[in-house]
Amino acid sequence: MSQLTFPISLWEGFEPVHTEQTGQQLIIHLKPTRPGRCTCGKQAQSVHETRLRSIAERAILDYQVTLRLPHRRIVCPDCGVVTEHLSWLDPFARQTNRLVAFVERLLPLLPIQHIAELTGLHWHTIKTIDKRRLAREIPEPDWSQVRRLAMDEFALFKGHRYATVVADADTHQVLWVGEGRSRRAIRPFFEQLGPHCQQIEAVAMDMNTAFDLEVKTHCPKAKVVYDLFHVVAKYGREVIDRVRVDQANALRDDRAARRKVKRGRWVLLKNRQNLTATQAGYLDELLQANRSLMVVYLLREQLKELWYCQSAQEAFSQWALWWQQVLESGIEPLQQFARKLKRYLHGIVASAEHRLHTGRLEGMNNKIKLMKRMGYGYRDTEYFFLKIKAAFPGKMR
Ligand SMILES: [Zn+2]
Repeated sequence: MSQLTFPISLWEGFEPVHTEQTGQQLIIHLKPTRPGRCTCGKQAQSVHETRLRSIAERAILDYQVTLRLPHRRIVCPDCGVVTEHLSWLDPFARQTNRLVAFVERLLPLLPIQHIAELTGLHWHTIKTIDKRRLAREIPEPDWSQVRRLAMDEFALFKGHRYATVVADADTHQVLWVGEGRSRRAIRPFFEQLGPHCQQIEAVAMDMNTAFDLEVKTHCPKAKVVYDLFHVVAKYGREVIDRVRVDQANALRDDRAARRKVKRGRWVLLKNRQNLTATQAGYLDELLQANRSLMVVYLLREQLKELWYCQSAQEAFSQWALWWQQVLESGIEPLQQFARKLKRYLHGIVASAEHRLHTGRLEGMNNKIKLMKRMGYGYRDTEYFFLKIKAAFPGKMR
């Protein structure tokens, strides 16, 4: 291929002079067709120096295209020595604006690896373009409107490091993501919130975290609310799972019954309304045959009701009722759990006055886990955090 002419001006101020082709690679050499211009609009008095640059362009047919052009440093009568302004190439960019726009259109649709194959760009280059796009598109929170928060932690790669996410509990916009889960790690959020700390009324979180102390330090009016989702998940692990394993061990001599109990984990932990008819039948059979499982299963459902009480008083009497049944059950893992939970009772009763939809928090938690599993390049935490913020832009209040 020796000569290419284009019917339209693809590179304003330049024209192709010749092309080189090697396999699927096409290099288009450009030359200027007019004197350079400054960003201020003035024409160059003279050229200070010229640098030969290689710029990636969108593919033409099956060819990956590189432009080679003399990019001029010019002397502007007003601004002095500046790099000439090109409408199709940002200063210091190594891809044309056209290619960047194309990549930005593909990013919500395709994994980075596929875009790399389509465009010939390096994985890192695409990631950089994506970071710029996300930073531009993530809406700035309206801090003056934030009243209720939800805080949660999640494991980063390998599970040894953690990160904390803070969301607006009403709009579900992610307001902040940071590495770590200590009081010190989350302090920057409250510093950013600044004077708006005074308007925070309630904060939903998991028990057993350092968050509550830090919240109380910065937000004097905020009630800490322990959310249902975390308590129920903990109950599943520490009570239902424990009792199920103990029951299976006790059934050592009845292999069929033992297998039934061992396989019951999933139906026991799932919400009943999410089970198929067969699964529900399996669950009923399991509960009928194992008294302890039946007790801890029913007490979990009763525990959940604490979060839906109409008043603090009602919540306290519900708790007393629950506590009594726990004591009478004689089931040790259950009693252990209840004793621990009792220390956090204030944060559960508070949910009667500050109803926070923890189902949403659970959804957020799951979505972050899913994003992590898909994990393209989230070793870069800054990128991962941008992705999280972009995934939860919030909805109308
Ligand atoms: Zn100028």
